[in-house]
Amino acid sequence: MTRVTRFAPSPTGLLHVGNLRTALHNWMLARKAGGRFLLRIDDTDAERSEDRFVEAIRRDLDWLDLTPDGEERQSKRLAFYEEAFERLKAAGRVYPAYESAQELDLKRKIALGRGLPPIYDRAALALTDEQRAAKEAQGVAPHWRFRLDHDEPIAWDDGIRGPQKFDAAQLSDPVVRRADGSWLYMLPSAFDDISMGVTDVLRGEDHVSNTAVQIQMFTALGAQPPRFAHEALLVGREGKLSKRLGSLGVESFREQGYQPEAIVALLARLGTALPVEPIADRTALLDTFDLATFGRAPARFDEADLARVNAQIVHQLPFEAVAGFVPEDFTPAAWHAIRPNLEKASEVIDWWQVVTGPVEPRAFDEETRAYLAEAAQALVWSDTPWQDLTAALKVGTGRKGRELFQPLRQALTGRDHGPDMAELLPLIGEERARERLEAAARG
Ligand code: GLU
Repeated sequence: MTRVTRFAPSPTGLLHVGNLRTALHNWMLARKAGGRFLLRIDDTDAERSEDRFVEAIRRDLDWLDLTPDGEERQSKRLAFYEEAFERLKAAGRVYPAYESAQELDLKRKIALGRGLPPIYDRAALALTDEQRAAKEAQGVAPHWRFRLDHDEPIAWDDGIRGPQKFDAAQLSDPVVRRADGSWLYMLPSAFDDISMGVTDVLRGEDHVSNTAVQIQMFTALGAQPPRFAHEALLVGREGKLSKRLGSLGVESFREQGYQPEAIVALLARLGTALPVEPIADRTALLDTFDLATFGRAPARFDEADLARVNAQIVHQLPFEAVAGFVPEDFTPAAWHAIRPNLEKASEVIDWWQVVTGPVEPRAFDEETRAYLAEAAQALVWSDTPWQDLTAALKVGTGRKGRELFQPLRQALTGRDHGPDMAELLPLIGEERARERLEAAARG
């Protein structure tokens, strides 16, 4: 059977890094098995859902190259839900309830006051037809609850958490539909997972108790429940899902100049037993992807890790990856020379300016100026101008190591550190190099 996974965000805001991680893992789970990865827009909440967020979700997935193989939108499936709901109604698995929010609140308080768990008492299930008719005659529209089967044990083998067991009698029959006919999340999600042929539901561990209920929904609808796996939540360095993490998404990653490959490499392995490595090749990441490596402890997201992985990924990026934003005269050789020195790919522009100049002039002392004058004289253009220049100066001046190299680097680039001069000098070229050395010698 083809493996089918889905990522099911509600378009009520931008995706944050925790959502991106869930999306990525679902993508990987499907791709690894040669299956399908679907996007489902959970927009039954018409008031809070916005089109601009739907577009942002698509854009974000695209940027990370997690393009879905199909997309469904819950707001377009309402007729289908109605029909599935009628079936559950006919089977007695959903029932109307008339309590107001205040009544329910009171019931909860009474239960808690007696030291009992605040489980819904199913009073609505006990209503007679006449009592229901009376409520409706008073103009009270019902909301709807899903009737859990207390005799059916709820158990599943979670792909990450292992064997899970719930006692349905310890759960409230969940409200699945409001009095105005609008849907809560649980039931449409089960309807859709069935009709979309979802074989694997991989989501955050905040959904574990929803799974217990949804398993009964699948069964009530005559469907085999999918495999479930719940991943530990992502937390910030400080240990909580901080505000910062909640606002950290693709937009901010892009603004900060991180490579999508770096985000993918980090999120693919964060919270697993595998080391986070700068793996830009998706196939290589997929090869080691395995839910069995996922830990139960919260996964810690630290931007310093992202920065590190990003730099390591940049150092391997091919020229084609930057060809879109570098100047026209920028060459693959320039990329090769500059790449090892970058933390972010965008910094290549600064370094290209160092190559093409002008460079910031420096104030050197007299002795160094004399040395640089000698360097300007000694400069002979060949295939290996840096090696030739430094070899000649070493013999001619007796300088070595830092004394030999550092003034040359400073005069030629205006900086103290940077790419390998043997690669950089040919890019600077003879004319500019001579000018810079002479200018530095003049002081
Ligand atoms: N829309 C739900 C959420 O964002 C989907 C959960 C699920 O994956 O089923 O929490």
